[in-house]
Amino acid sequence: MKFCDVFIIGGGPAGSIAAAKLVQSGLTVKLVERQVFPRFVIGESLLPRCNQLLAEANLLDAIQQANFQVKGGVAFETKQNFEIFHFENNLGEPFNSSFQVKRETFDHELLKEAERMGTDVEFESEVIAYDAEKNIVTVKTKTGDIKTYQAKKVIDASGYGRVLPRLLNLEAKPKLALRRATFCRVKHDIRPTDGTEGYIYVDIHGNNDAWIWNIPFNDGITSVGIVCTEEYFQSFNMTDTEFWDYIIATNSSAQKRYVNATKVNEVGSLSGYSAAVKKLSGNHFVLVGNASEFLDPVFSSGVTLALESGALAADLTLKELQGNKVDWQTEYEDYMMRGINVFREFVESWYDGRLQTIFFTEEKDEKIKQAITSVLSGYVWNEKNFFVKNPAQAVSTLVAMIEAR
Ligand SMILES: Cc1cc2nc3c(=O)[nH]c(=O)nc-3n(C[C@H](O)[C@H](O)[C@H](O)COP(=O)(O)OP(=O)(O)OC[C@H]3O[C@@H](n4cnc5c(N)ncnc54)[C@H](O)[C@@H]3O)c2cc1C
Repeated sequence: MKFCDVFIIGGGPAGSIAAAKLVQSGLTVKLVERQVFPRFVIGESLLPRCNQLLAEANLLDAIQQANFQVKGGVAFETKQNFEIFHFENNLGEPFNSSFQVKRETFDHELLKEAERMGTDVEFESEVIAYDAEKNIVTVKTKTGDIKTYQAKKVIDASGYGRVLPRLLNLEAKPKLALRRATFCRVKHDIRPTDGTEGYIYVDIHGNNDAWIWNIPFNDGITSVGIVCTEEYFQSFNMTDTEFWDYIIATNSSAQKRYVNATKVNEVGSLSGYSAAVKKLSGNHFVLVGNASEFLDPVFSSGVTLALESGALAADLTLKELQGNKVDWQTEYEDYMMRGINVFREFVESWYDGRLQTIFFTEEKDEKIKQAITSVLSGYVWNEKNFFVKNPAQAVSTLVAMIEAR
């Protein structure tokens, strides 16, 4: 058996930021990743809050050197409506731009940096068992060898692998409807020429039946994904590729943008990706990133929440290992759930159409737009923002006011 201060399962953004923070504090960190990097993962549009978290972990320089497409905001459009949120017009948050990233490159850069700082990284090794009493992790290597590690803390950053939720029976039923994403990368799209070419464009399709993400990279490739309910997809009786082609050809905005575009890879799909857990931490372990809660891709919150939870879990682990008391319920779980619940309210009111009523209303107060921009920038813990303080009430009051006009 081998020993380390902290054992991390998975080398995505949540695992890398946790590792980077912990090794810089002088702890020994073992990180085991089951794949070979670079590896593809979905989730390519980041929020300004990510940049702040990366800066605080001394990881932003490495990301800036990788020269990703700068993202200055987000635009929403239907056949009749258009609204754009420039990140710089927020409530005065410290960072007001982010990046559009091919995750295979972004995640690899982060993990390389965490390794350079001192993390002991092992690829192609999979965590297959966990003893929660003794805090012992069992790993199966590429060659089939079995190794065990005992750590003072285990951080599960296994993303869609959801290692500890599965092994410890922590899975809970997500409250959001079952949705599917059908996506592919293209080249030769026609991008906006008004300074917003690096923005994410979100096109609402039909009668709010589906929405399309348009995420431009700096090498001329664009990621294009369609999100809808599983039932809507099934009603077409089409393959993923046929469905993607059909929606792009029949959506007024996408049709124009992709008229000359060609696919650079096969159309892929993911279904039933929303996930929830009964609790985020236990005596010796903590769940971070997608190994905990995942809501929905619409506001590009996934990597922000992965970095936020990975960074906070690292800070609290350090505090605990230095002999201080940590109340994981209030300091970690309650904090994370506050931010997640702001996004949850936005996601739910997006799908039931109320948020679009707010987004597309013509008479929009500047302060309200700034508050929305702050949420769309990932600043979902700033209590000065009324959408953060009481998200459900803020959304319903605004909709009622707009409808009463
Ligand atoms: C359709 C869709 C679109 C999305 N779009 C966006 C977006 O635009 N912006 C955004 O911010 N987010 C987006 N997301 C969310 C984003 O994909 C995730 O939130 C993010 O990848 C979470 O990072 P992570 O570090 O928690 O996990 P991951 O990035 O998934 O990394 C987990 C790692 O753990 C490894 N692993 C798994 N099991 C084991 C094991 N047993 N042993 C060892 N290693 C293991 C995996 O190989 C993987 O490398 C989207 C999600 C979906 C479903």
